[in-house]
Amino acid sequence: MQVYKFGGASVKDAEGVRNLARILKLNQPGQLLIVISAMGKTTNLLEALCNAYFSENGEATTLLQQAKDYHEHILHELFPDHKHPVYDLIANTFVEIEWILEEEPQDEFDYLYDQIVSVGELLSTRIVSTYLNSLGYINQWLDARNYISTDNNYRDAKVDWPKTENNIQADLPSMLTESTVITQGFIGSTSENFTTTLGREGSDFTAAIFASCLNAEAVTIWKDVPGVLNADPKWFDQTELIKELSYLDAIELTYYGATVIHPKTIKPLQNKNIPLIVRSFLKPETIGTVVHQNQGTLPIPSFIFKVNQVHIAILPKDFSFIVEDNLSHIFTLFHQHKVKINMMHNSAVSFSVSVDDDETKIPLLVTSLKERYDVSVEAGLELVTIRYYNQETINRVLIHKEIVLEVKNGYTCQMLIRTIG
Ligand code: ASP
Ligand code: MG
Repeated sequence: MQVYKFGGASVKDAEGVRNLARILKLNQPGQLLIVISAMGKTTNLLEALCNAYFSENGEATTLLQQAKDYHEHILHELFPDHKHPVYDLIANTFVEIEWILEEEPQDEFDYLYDQIVSVGELLSTRIVSTYLNSLGYINQWLDARNYISTDNNYRDAKVDWPKTENNIQADLPSMLTESTVITQGFIGSTSENFTTTLGREGSDFTAAIFASCLNAEAVTIWKDVPGVLNADPKWFDQTELIKELSYLDAIELTYYGATVIHPKTIKPLQNKNIPLIVRSFLKPETIGTVVHQNQGTLPIPSFIFKVNQVHIAILPKDFSFIVEDNLSHIFTLFHQHKVKINMMHNSAVSFSVSVDDDETKIPLLVTSLKERYDVSVEAGLELVTIRYYNQETINRVLIHKEIVLEVKNGYTCQMLIRTIG
């Protein structure tokens, strides 16, 4: 069997949903499980709705209406018969949010977030599943929350693998012999049946979980890019498609911030030796990239850019060395403030990191660091990571820039840079 994953961009409008149907017709992969994200920018919209509800700024109902209108518009194009049962199905799905909004926010933010934001995936999968059935492409809609078991770390829930594997293996193999199964990415549930989410962009990871538990032949992620490129076209004019990638290189690239695949996706596939294919839903006739077991190194250097970086340099006040007890204290503070380190550099008397700028988290972190250390902070920097670097590629990214911090190890070079002038 195979797993296909369609992200939000692929189903952002009615044409996207029709295109998805065309891709299924074109490929006919045999037994198939399809994982789908929320349509377009729905997750961002529901996130805003959740913030509005929690801060009680009065905008929650307007944002809910926007989400309804957006989905309604897609429904109108896909189902001209306005009496089609899908209209009620979608209205009832929104009721889950309406119920929450009727009460004042009492629960914790992260819990509420998951209850609200998860609705995006329920909507998209219901629409796509119903549409495909209406075309005669018979499929079953599956509630991923009955299969993906997690802890209750809301917004970043950890998967309980043994339980999830049991759940999936108990039902899915026989369901898949009957027809294609359509389910949601990104969501799971706790042992008390509360909805959780796996972290933003987590649908790729869901596809990998199902694939691993079902020993799939392959996972295909359908994207708006031709495959894995050696740089993000957002920052680079000339990009090249990487046709073949080892699991290790894919893990490294995503670890350093390549956004084409969610970083958690690759390891479970590597463990089971399941190939991951990244293909374009815009040009489904092209092959894309295959990530699999392969000894070779990448034929070309790859670049990963992160903008809006903050450099935090930490020095002990008493000029003592940066030793284990300082470091463990520093890491504890980063962990407590949920600030992820993108690059770190340790010297005898200082410890430096680069982190994503965040108006709320960073000032709080810096205040707590200052209780014990001298801390300097510089914002507005860029972090460039080059996998398989050479001097030419380094020179290229340093035009009109200077290095604040540099770390080289093995095949990877990371440079935190500032624009000159
Ligand atoms: N809809 C979720 C998000 O936008 C999950 C995903 O797209 O993978 O983060
Ligand atoms: Mg998405």
